[in-house]
Amino acid sequence: MKNENMCNRCILNDQFPSIEFDRNGICNYCHKWDKEWAEFDYNKAEQQLQMIFKDAKLKKRKYDCMVPYSGGRDSSYVLYLCKEKYGMNPLAVTFNNLFMSDYALKNILSTVPKLGVDHVMVSLQPDLLKSFYRAMILKGGEFCSICTCGINYVITVYQQLFNIPLVLSGVSSRVDEQSPFEVTSTHPSYVRKVLLESGFSIEDIDSLLVKRQYELTAIEKIKMKLTDSDFLRINMPDYLSWNNQEIQETLENELHWQTPDKNMDHIDCRFAPIKTFLKNKQIPHFIFKQEKYSQLIRDGQMTREEAINSLDAAIKHEHEPPAELTDFLNFFDITLEDIENKEGHCHLDFITKEDTFVRESMAYKFLAIPWKILRVFRA
Ligand SMILES: [Zn+2]
Repeated sequence: MKNENMCNRCILNDQFPSIEFDRNGICNYCHKWDKEWAEFDYNKAEQQLQMIFKDAKLKKRKYDCMVPYSGGRDSSYVLYLCKEKYGMNPLAVTFNNLFMSDYALKNILSTVPKLGVDHVMVSLQPDLLKSFYRAMILKGGEFCSICTCGINYVITVYQQLFNIPLVLSGVSSRVDEQSPFEVTSTHPSYVRKVLLESGFSIEDIDSLLVKRQYELTAIEKIKMKLTDSDFLRINMPDYLSWNNQEIQETLENELHWQTPDKNMDHIDCRFAPIKTFLKNKQIPHFIFKQEKYSQLIRDGQMTREEAINSLDAAIKHEHEPPAELTDFLNFFDITLEDIENKEGHCHLDFITKEDTFVRESMAYKFLAIPWKILRVFRA
């Protein structure tokens, strides 16, 4: 990697999709981050968060909130905070993709009784689920989009079952990688097209693909408002300081949480290292850590020098197959040749950026005015 082609603040370089530099050599992704987060008022945000929690509790439902819980660092911390710090009564829900790591399973089994929360783990019919992943690897060159659909499935089913007013996730637009559309997509229209082209029946596809919040029609959304069955979905890290090191220490001390490597992300997924390996087949030299480290630099959790050193180490191993590769190929019954992806298959074969724009209907905008006014009065 040539450092002279890098942004002067983060570590994205001029090969990164849609990147532009200003006259000081600072990239548009840094500017975008600053716009949202540089002046962010965390005290005010935490007050807002407490207001959201208070509202959820006032609903007096069986559960105040739901936490999609993978057993990874962020979702474990969300569960810990909402129960221990904010006194919420959460339902933790886990989508079992069939390749959760041993660490994630162990942490879940020890954390749930320690926090005293209710927990459900859901898996779809294993052969069908595996064949969804297999089709996605062959046609889309990745497998993360199926997990996203599975997690959404579990959230939707249990939100509706218990009419849970709030969903708290641990992903963050501030500190997590925010890959642009050119790099990756988990959009349901893309997943649906891939599965249809792979010969799955509509019935099978619908057993995984339930509507996401942004896919609901105006009528469906209004019906949810009128029957008091709608819900708020927020990213908890967007309201609080979210420091990886602090989180790690809290989890170790309070929950006796275990991890193979303190600096490792996605310890919940056995095949996490394969993600970058497959992405390299589509976009040569692309490393997701480049985005993650850039976010941590902007948030003051890492220096640029530390990030460059860590990235150099990652690049050295870029062409070496990850240790998990054989297990991965066997698990999904695919060959090394299958994932070579010489044609560069990816989500862009199935979806355009325009397909992902959410169009809110005029009818809904108009009918949602009373709720907006109500919210202003309460604030
Ligand atoms: Zn930058």
